[in-house]
Amino acid sequence: MLTIKKKIWILLAAVLLLGVLYGTGAFHFRHCVRRAANAVAVTALRIEYRLAGKDEPLFVPVLMYHSVNETPLGEPVLSVRPREFAAQMQAIADGGFTPITFDELADAENFKKPVLITFDDGYRDNFTEAYPILKKHGFRATVFMISGDIGAPNFLDGDDILAMGDLISFQSHTVRHCRLTGLSRDDAALEMRQSKETIEALTGKPVIALSYPEGRFNSAVLRLAPKYYDYAVTTKCGYWHSGKDRYSISRLAVGRGMKLERFKKILDQT
Ligand SMILES: [Zn+2]
Repeated sequence: MLTIKKKIWILLAAVLLLGVLYGTGAFHFRHCVRRAANAVAVTALRIEYRLAGKDEPLFVPVLMYHSVNETPLGEPVLSVRPREFAAQMQAIADGGFTPITFDELADAENFKKPVLITFDDGYRDNFTEAYPILKKHGFRATVFMISGDIGAPNFLDGDDILAMGDLISFQSHTVRHCRLTGLSRDDAALEMRQSKETIEALTGKPVIALSYPEGRFNSAVLRLAPKYYDYAVTTKCGYWHSGKDRYSISRLAVGRGMKLERFKKILDQT
């Protein structure tokens, strides 16, 4: 028999090991935890709506991509390979999903299995690698552009942005990609307003959605965002659903090497 002391040590070691696994994301442990938490949240919400006698909320997966490249740009784990992206878009087509943009989100129930495909930062490979694949399917998608990086090395330039305009909705990822939580109210407002104005002037189309740099937001940012935007997305894991706060939208990060089966599962969890 183990003594109480030994049991406590084993328990502490197990907690420590789980913490390390979660922290490093080893063996997709973090994704498993998030997926399980997500499934519980979806079920809880369905029950809550049912108990309140309300119609079931509509769940919309919001996919989060960054670079699509054989050679990763930015955070390597967030950069998917072109062949992975192609297989994922094929899965969206085969699954009967309809990719929509933020200006269609308010009417999401009018689309068959709506999904949002989003890219953060505005890497140039979104045009050279991702756009031809999206074009093949006629899929609409959203690029959250850092307006100050338009035309910088490895980022989309004005011509790329206009060339993608038939399918891609360009929205804001601020001017300089600073954490909004670390700025004064005036500076945060400037980041929100100026990026919106720059992108609108370039595309001639409304910019209504913001992606918080690094997903960071706080109560001050949440108060400010509605002055300029109708929606704002985070890097929290989950789905958009009708009836949820429009300024802290969760997304589903698609990482390098994600198994296609797992991709299909997160799409279908709704
Ligand atoms: Zn970013």
